Amino acid sequence: MNVRDSEHIIAELGDKEHYTLTDNMQDADLILINTCSVREKPVSKLFSEIGKYNKRKKEGAKIGVCGCTASHLGEEIFRRAPYVSFVLGARNVSKISTAVNTERFLSVDTDYDESNYAFGEFRNSLYKAYVNISIGCDKKCTYCIVPQTRGEELSIPSELIINEARKAALKGAKEIFLLGQNVNNYGRRFSGVDEKIDFSDLLNRISEIPEVERIRFTSPHPLHMDDKFLETFANNPKVCKSMHMPLQSGSTHILEQMKRGYSKEWFLDRALKLRAMIPDVSISTDIIVAFPGESEEDFEDTLDVMRQVKFEQVFAFKYSARPLTKAAEFDHQIDPEIGAQRLERLQLMQDEILDEIAESKRGKIYPVYIEELRNSGFLAGRSDNNALVQIEGDENLLGTTVNVKITNPKRLALYGDIVL
Ligand code: SAH
Ligand code: SF4
Repeated sequence: MNVRDSEHIIAELGDKEHYTLTDNMQDADLILINTCSVREKPVSKLFSEIGKYNKRKKEGAKIGVCGCTASHLGEEIFRRAPYVSFVLGARNVSKISTAVNTERFLSVDTDYDESNYAFGEFRNSLYKAYVNISIGCDKKCTYCIVPQTRGEELSIPSELIINEARKAALKGAKEIFLLGQNVNNYGRRFSGVDEKIDFSDLLNRISEIPEVERIRFTSPHPLHMDDKFLETFANNPKVCKSMHMPLQSGSTHILEQMKRGYSKEWFLDRALKLRAMIPDVSISTDIIVAFPGESEEDFEDTLDVMRQVKFEQVFAFKYSARPLTKAAEFDHQIDPEIGAQRLERLQLMQDEILDEIAESKRGKIYPVYIEELRNSGFLAGRSDNNALVQIEGDENLLGTTVNVKITNPKRLALYGDIVL
């Protein structure tokens, strides 16, 4: 979502203020940092980074801080870094023109409604288009700061989404990537329009755009994975067969403490149903280890879900206590050393699973949409089920789909050759 917010900022500054991008910091009249605040580490990094920029920037250049840390720290950023020119919170992105033209501009209103705003066009990739479908988040997961930095959840009107997807696809982006904190809760609340539409309907409508070949999305919430959603996912051929299912914990007790709204059994039921419906589906997940009160037995439950589901990708994090969250006040915070050990155990186990998954792909043939020429000289793209595939080949293949036979499967990427 931050990548997309940055694209919106670049589009607005290009269209309305005639800024262009530069690779050279000394040339820049404006340096923007878009920030995350989900865990503590990026927040502390922010101040050391902007300190460095301040020393090396061109005379008179402005520094602006955007995103979730801007929302969460607000004024404090000016106090700790007085050379910052403006602070612009997440969901205030449409005010970027005012921000660059106003002395010490501060706007961190998490009630600000940008859900009907049509941003200008800028995309990092010609081949894949990110499209926001909602802003904010209505859940109250006890560890998470996002609802405090991005405000309440509002769905973006479907007409805006479909127009944006159509425009991008006509320009050559065959893949549309839908973004929101709870995408499969889409349609629950709009502002300014009255629509009856849910996420499955939205997927079907986007798939009717002839130039769209692939649709991906993140993040769906396991709680809202009802049968209608799973069936649309399985049956619509343009919807890529990779599902992100953020588990967070495999222990029903910890899930209750996190206020996730589902149990270990519900999660397993949904994941295993998906595996049964779509044999080649890939499932990725997010896991937090060492949430307050997590016992060895709770942690074993998480490993158990990992063993049963065999996720193709796991983003695992050590719990980080965040201000403004309920869990930060909980008793039984876990010793960070125990957290580090659990994270290591989890990663070792996942590496074994990944080796097994990679080996099972040897000799298989996948249609791969080529999106990127890497510095290594390899072309890279993704299979429908989201495996990263790399091949040797000509740049002309960018933006095309080719069949690749996997000859050298590795944990993080599958290497192969084009076959006809
Ligand atoms: N809306 C998404 C998550 C967005 S935050 C969802 O519900 O899954 C992205 C990920 O950061 C989360 O899935 C979670 O695993 C992680 N995360 C959020 N808060 C965290 C915290 N306090 N400590 C560690 N990881 C956290
Ligand atoms: Fe955070 Fe939970 Fe909302 Fe995801 S669903 S953004 S984890 S509060």
